[in-house]
Amino acid sequence: MAFINENYLKLKAGYLFPEIARRVKAFTEAHPDGAARLIRCGIGDVTEPLPQACRDAMHSAVDEQGARETFKGYGPEQGYDFLREAIAKNDYQDRGLNVTADEIFVSDGSKCDTGNILDIFGPGNRIAITDPVYPVYVDTNVMIGNTGEADASGAYDGLVYLKCTAENGFVPAIPDEPVDLIYLCYPNNPTGATATRDQLTAWVAYARQNHAILLYDAAYEAFIQDPDVPRSIYEIEGARDCAIEFRSFSKNGGFTGVRCAFIVIPKELKGRKKDGTEQPIHPLWSRRHSTKFNGASYIVQRGAAAVYSPEGKAQVQALIEHYMGNAALLVKACQDAGLAVYGGVNAPYVWVRCPAGISSWQMFDKMLQEANVVITPGAGFGSAGEGYFRISAFNSRANVEEVCRRIAAL
Ligand SMILES: *Cc1c(COP(=O)(O)O)cnc(C)c1O
Repeated sequence: MAFINENYLKLKAGYLFPEIARRVKAFTEAHPDGAARLIRCGIGDVTEPLPQACRDAMHSAVDEQGARETFKGYGPEQGYDFLREAIAKNDYQDRGLNVTADEIFVSDGSKCDTGNILDIFGPGNRIAITDPVYPVYVDTNVMIGNTGEADASGAYDGLVYLKCTAENGFVPAIPDEPVDLIYLCYPNNPTGATATRDQLTAWVAYARQNHAILLYDAAYEAFIQDPDVPRSIYEIEGARDCAIEFRSFSKNGGFTGVRCAFIVIPKELKGRKKDGTEQPIHPLWSRRHSTKFNGASYIVQRGAAAVYSPEGKAQVQALIEHYMGNAALLVKACQDAGLAVYGGVNAPYVWVRCPAGISSWQMFDKMLQEANVVITPGAGFGSAGEGYFRISAFNSRANVEEVCRRIAAL
């Protein structure tokens, strides 16, 4: 008999994006004219083409792969030095942060990294996740057996949910029960909120006191406009002892279809054995990564490194300005419509309060039927997301302007 991992059976069937796809399909089949007008502001995928610098770098890398003298087979599992050094220098050292190239592990995506990291943590950790949340953190904990069953609201037994509300600025309070692994994502998907230096300082202090580890997802770091908002958890003193940072080229360089990301594990970071003795995390991840992963593609890593070239930086900046210009238009359109709006200032997501008495799925249906715009219902990100919806600023300017007109006409 071949036994299955029964944890998978605990996963809620109605995962957010399939349910959205199902409703959109039903609508477009019933309303061909509405289908032609449909604008998608739902899934968090970029829309604009890759920066020229990245394309040029990948073209040359393809040519290298076509010549015997420059052909490359398997590369280092942790990533090529040229990329790890460019990351360490540009994202950290030039900003006064102490992160070295050998603390960086290049991968094919942050989604995989945030899920795979659980491999090196043992059973019995108390896991804290924000609510609302990027669903990957929850589902990967379910798959590996860190939870019980879900209740009617979709909350899993065994997880500690940290409520993010308008009152706390969508940054959770420090829990009053002990937790061991804490997922934080700032700038946040879905709320578009950022965490202040003081808030992150409090989390770092908590983690150090409790020997907990922060799993800090900074996928949207490039969208921060406000110079006072931390871009990296390592801007907080003491974070090297208690935090892993996840970064991705998906949203800054538009690499969602190219696939490249990295994680930072400081050498000082330690977990514990059952007997309480400390064990560095870096060698565990190094072993895991080189056993289960054979490196991101050379061509892709060349493309990612080009993000740090002078041209690449300017082109990425232009992409960010484009998306943040979209976000500003969406924020204004929703405010003008009398809605309470959050996010959209240091993040490409606008988080909007539904009009009184309308649930987030009702709002989804209303936007779909009446405005022919696909948004994401807040409840899909967790029960605290009920009463909100997310509009993504990842779109063409023409589409965003049209969405704004339709919001005004609602
Ligand atoms: C888009 C996104 C990522 C990036 O994922 P990739 O797998 O690198 O494309 C990571 N975290 C969050 C919260 C995201 O929204």
